[in-house]
Amino acid sequence: MAAATILSLEGAVALVTGASGGLGRHFAGTLAEAGATVAVAARRRDKVQETVTAIEAAGGQAFAVDLDVTRADSVAEAFGRVEGELGTVSIVVNNAGIALRGAPQDIEEAEWDRAMDTNLKGAWLVGTEAARRMIAAGIGGSIINIASIMGLRITAGLSPYAISKAGVVQMTKSCALEWVRHGIRVNALAPGYFETDINRDFLKTDAGQAIVKRIPMRRTGDMKDLDGPLLLLASEAGAFMTGTVIPVDGGHMVSGL
Ligand code: NAD
Repeated sequence: MAAATILSLEGAVALVTGASGGLGRHFAGTLAEAGATVAVAARRRDKVQETVTAIEAAGGQAFAVDLDVTRADSVAEAFGRVEGELGTVSIVVNNAGIALRGAPQDIEEAEWDRAMDTNLKGAWLVGTEAARRMIAAGIGGSIINIASIMGLRITAGLSPYAISKAGVVQMTKSCALEWVRHGIRVNALAPGYFETDINRDFLKTDAGQAIVKRIPMRRTGDMKDLDGPLLLLASEAGAFMTGTVIPVDGGHMVSGL
């Protein structure tokens, strides 16, 4: 198969959560450029519409849908709407996520719940809803969980976030094994540092700058650095890959001691 063809998503229906900004908006654009019709799913309708308009202006196909990943009813309704309008979703990017900074002993119970409900339970609700529909339609598919290098290693001040992302890593492996018989592949990307709303203020601090200096490539990621890994997992190019967790981090995971 030609290099361009093997990465094509022509005819596929994709759904990206938290696609109103940051990495999610970029992922939605990348999938649309590869030929998928993309359901842009998030809570902020005006921002979602901006993403849809940008994709359409670039010649792609996109559809806005309201989604709060922390609520099972919202997840089911969003998938129902997308399936009714576009057909069964076969590519899912579980991207919605929030960071939570602070020492473990200072984290309020409600903050812990919000981080776990969004990062861990949200990815579970979306992944299982997607899988149920793929199984019912008999189509298989690709679920891509956006974990983090924080799910594989630790930095100070991000305890619940790191714990939730470690859960996403294990969810990826468990669901990959469970759904392989249905032709559903489940993989994760583990990004290092990419400047978005989630970390923009932190990266300006001395502590943030010190972390960037420890990245072997001495820079944060450009969003386009995620395009190849995303398309690999979404497309036929990754047909024999499931249960993998791929760091995209400028070498951060192998920084020297
Ligand atoms: P961001 O804050 O720009 O985007 C997060 C998105 O998730 C926002 O659009 C937000 O509205 C959405 N969201 C939050 N709660 C939601 C909910 N309940 N329902 C639906 N949408 C919700 O941050 P980002 O950097 O683009 O993060 C995207 C993902 O990438 C997150 O899972 C994050 O943990 C992960 N990640 C980011 C980095 C990084 O350096 N930026 C590194 C590793 C992993």
